[in-house]
Amino acid sequence: AYNDDKSEDYLFKVVLIGDSAVGKSNLLSRYARNEFNLNSKATIGVEFQTQSMEIDGKEIKAQIWDTAGQERFRAVTSAYYRGAVGALIVYDISRKGTFDNVGRWLDELRVHSDASVVVMLVGNKCDLDNIREVSQEEATLLAQNEKMSFIETSAMDATNVTNAFQSVVKEIYRVVS
Ligand code: GDP
Ligand code: MG
Repeated sequence: AYNDDKSEDYLFKVVLIGDSAVGKSNLLSRYARNEFNLNSKATIGVEFQTQSMEIDGKEIKAQIWDTAGQERFRAVTSAYYRGAVGALIVYDISRKGTFDNVGRWLDELRVHSDASVVVMLVGNKCDLDNIREVSQEEATLLAQNEKMSFIETSAMDATNVTNAFQSVVKEIYRVVS
């Protein structure tokens, strides 16, 4: 029978990881709802947001997971990573310590997910260029060494936010199709 319901074409799980307060929740709320919150509260209730996009005439759904603040206690569980085919590792360009921890997040991701997981390094808060502590050059170098793509974003002024999520999803699609 003819089936024009393309809603089940692809469903990709993508996880947001990175230190506390780097802007993970705001990146997701900016992408999914075009919202930004100056005063951040720990995410309550919502585990993930689903966003659709079209590639090659197919509907691709990305189920993007956000932590509920458990990264504060280094307690992101294996259930969070289970089945993920993509990850955004987020740091804050104005706090070097959050960049120094990227390697730890990468190790944890690699322990819990398939080797083919698509990873993007995301330097958030690029609106804070005047107090920048991480250069684009050092981040580019790390990304090259670890075979990740790299982008700088601002959840506050919306720079590159859609671009970051869509690039990851497109890359996953290329890997699986
Ligand atoms: P999370 O803990 O990684 O989920 O970080 P949140 O999304 O809760 O954000 C932590 C704090 O950083 C909040 O006060 C946000 O308003 C702020 N923040 C998030 N993204 C940006 C950004 O792109 N630029 C600036 N200047 N602040 C941001
Ligand atoms: Mg959060």
